Amino acid sequence: MRMKKLTKKYTAWRDSVLDGLAAQHPDAAPELVFSNPYELLIATILSAQCTDKQVNKTTPALFAAYPGPKEMAKAEPEEIEGYIHSCGFYHNKAKNIVSACRDIVERFGGEVPSDREGLESLAGVGRKTANVVLSNAFGVPAIAVDTHVFRVSNRIGLADAGTVEATEKQLMENIPEDKWSIAHHWLIFHGRRVCSARNPKCGECMIRELCREYEKRGS
Ligand code: SF4
Repeated sequence: MRMKKLTKKYTAWRDSVLDGLAAQHPDAAPELVFSNPYELLIATILSAQCTDKQVNKTTPALFAAYPGPKEMAKAEPEEIEGYIHSCGFYHNKAKNIVSACRDIVERFGGEVPSDREGLESLAGVGRKTANVVLSNAFGVPAIAVDTHVFRVSNRIGLADAGTVEATEKQLMENIPEDKWSIAHHWLIFHGRRVCSARNPKCGECMIRELCREYEKRGS
């Protein structure tokens, strides 16, 4: 979906930024623990307004009790609430998880759909969750824009947008498709470890000489 012709100067700058992020975060990878698309889908729904670490503490017992969509579809949301209480918003999340799994069983033969349309038709699954599942469970290039990706990409200058949707579109235009998924992880790791919301550690940032925000601030 490349719609913009990028200049040589821009692509050279962008490649240096991506190389710098790769060097700073060689361990960038999904932090949610999962072993199949079902587990990633449920973990991603649980991760809204919750840390990946907390989700990872929660899911082993949940997946032991409900190992797949068929088992989860038979549950009542109230049963699930007890397992996911510590992830916050447990009432809605339990409702969405059970409802999504019932849809997976009834409309998708018990398999998590591997296309955007199917995923986004499930309860509790918006574009960001669909992107996470597409890229990490099915290997479909996608850039899920969460709060870190939004902030960091707009600070660096990889995007210049006021909304999540526009940021995703610009990142898809500006970053080569084969790097979308890993760039998403680099930007998340950078946001968590270095370019934090309130006090970005620019002194530790390996791309500060390339960063538009750093240039603007003058330090
Ligand atoms: S230089 Fe500072 S603002 Fe720019 S990406 Fe690095 S940490 Fe963030």
